[in-house]
Amino acid sequence: MLRFKNLGSGSTGNASVIEAQCGHQTTRILIDCGLGLKELERRLIQANLELSDLDALFITHEHADHVGHTKRVASSLKIPVWMSQGTWLACGGLDWGFNPSQINIARDTEVIEFGALQIKPFTVPHDAREPLQVRLSDGAVSLGVLTDLGHVSPHVFSQLQGCNALLMETNHDTQMLRKSGYPQFLKDRISGPLGHLSNESACELAQKLNHSGLGHVVAAHLSERNNSPEIVLDCLSRALGRTVDEVWVAAPDTGSAWVHVN
Ligand SMILES: [Zn+2]
Ligand SMILES: [Zn+2]
Repeated sequence: MLRFKNLGSGSTGNASVIEAQCGHQTTRILIDCGLGLKELERRLIQANLELSDLDALFITHEHADHVGHTKRVASSLKIPVWMSQGTWLACGGLDWGFNPSQINIARDTEVIEFGALQIKPFTVPHDAREPLQVRLSDGAVSLGVLTDLGHVSPHVFSQLQGCNALLMETNHDTQMLRKSGYPQFLKDRISGPLGHLSNESACELAQKLNHSGLGHVVAAHLSERNNSPEIVLDCLSRALGRTVDEVWVAAPDTGSAWVHVN
């Protein structure tokens, strides 16, 4: 059994809990830790979980909305943390003041077997030192988690083929971003090849990844100023040939509901 719940998504802080069950073994990993300890606890309670139910953290990259509270959360829970060597170094390495025995280095396409979960990180094009996103499986079905990338590289596409559910970035509407009051350098960064995925690119990817075994698709990391859930639901449902009720958007403050992957 594999299920997931986004706890909050966007530039104010990202975190998603993924749970796998195999026999009597249950394993839960938190992907990204952009929420403070108290807020994380509050949102876990809303998901009928406690902080002590988390078995590990996986940090995708060093941007504050993802790595933000990692040290505090991991130190207080005394659980292992996976991240790339580049992310670890970008956070300060040994100077980060983190117990190094808790850090595990994740590498592109090297599967991490952790309890009932198999975690396969893969490199994405984003303006961080060594960003990784992940494909997670309970051995039967798989979930693709994909945020913070400027474009869909052939590598990204190949790593997500055949997934049974997707939690994927639909960051901005290209027209809204172009017309926004953001300074030009910021517009260029967001829409650039190492920035964030536009609705159009995300929908094109969703269409290419669509297959009869693809269940829930949850849109994530929406720009609060240059996008809207309505636009995303419309474009994603059309790309997947579904109704707007059959695709979901993760909200910044409440995330998503629990999603069963089957
Ligand atoms: Zn981000
Ligand atoms: Zn980022």
